[in-house]
Amino acid sequence: MANYATHIGVGTVVSGALATLTVGADVIGPESIMAVTLAGVAGSVLPDIDLRDSRASMILFSGIAVFASFCVLFINADRYSIAELWILWLGSMAFVRYGLHGVFHHFSVHRGAWHSLLAGLLWAGITAIVFHRLLGLHEGVAWLGGGFMFVGYLTHLVLDEMYSVDFMGNRLKKSFGSALKFVDTRYPGKSTAMAALTCLVLFFAPSPKPFFEAISTQSLWSGLNDRMLPADKWFGVLGGDNELAAPHHDGASQITTGSIPRRDTNGTTDAQSRPGTPNRPDGALQ
Ligand SMILES: [Zn+2]
Repeated sequence: MANYATHIGVGTVVSGALATLTVGADVIGPESIMAVTLAGVAGSVLPDIDLRDSRASMILFSGIAVFASFCVLFINADRYSIAELWILWLGSMAFVRYGLHGVFHHFSVHRGAWHSLLAGLLWAGITAIVFHRLLGLHEGVAWLGGGFMFVGYLTHLVLDEMYSVDFMGNRLKKSFGSALKFVDTRYPGKSTAMAALTCLVLFFAPSPKPFFEAISTQSLWSGLNDRMLPADKWFGVLGGDNELAAPHHDGASQITTGSIPRRDTNGTTDAQSRPGTPNRPDGALQ
């Protein structure tokens, strides 16, 4: 298996490349791209969450603890005094970091149920719920975060599988085939429980329809095609006219700065109703 630093490194590169593509496609505002990218990076280390006493697991639980404690803080900010909020914040952080961490490791086996694509789907659903219900992000953006989480998860599993091939000796290590799998059939009870939990999470998750509608529009892909290569010189200085590049259309450089446009009662969006505001492609998550 690949080590923790390799997973973080490759996960960051894959998520960053996808984030660049997403910004280029102009489907979400830059203010959401950070959260979505972080979901991808988190996904690239989460499959090893069950590695008992590993640095990866400790750091992951610390990260989840900080995130959960801030959620508790924001939800209760208006209700309690500062002293009570301190207690709540510290209490919830300690509960996740030490309490949940201990309970989790009591029940899990490394490269068990969590090291599978099913777990990736479960985490994608959890990401969509947290982004939409806790952070108040648009359904489409929430599922984009879920998609990044899943791609990060897949990157981790593929990387572990690649590391199980001994390139020098041209032979397969014993771990070959144990990293990339849909479910872990060695633990049918745990895998069934995980499948049931995934169904429950997907039931409470926001609708993925806006996300799928956004990524399946023709204008999104033709816009991406237009922006893939520079219309003229690379960085404005290198090379001549790029014959391969499609003409640079007007909307290409209009990276949107606002948040997801809200629909008004007539069904038009802020961006459409505001004169001079760049319109996103038809598929923009709005
Ligand atoms: Zn792993």
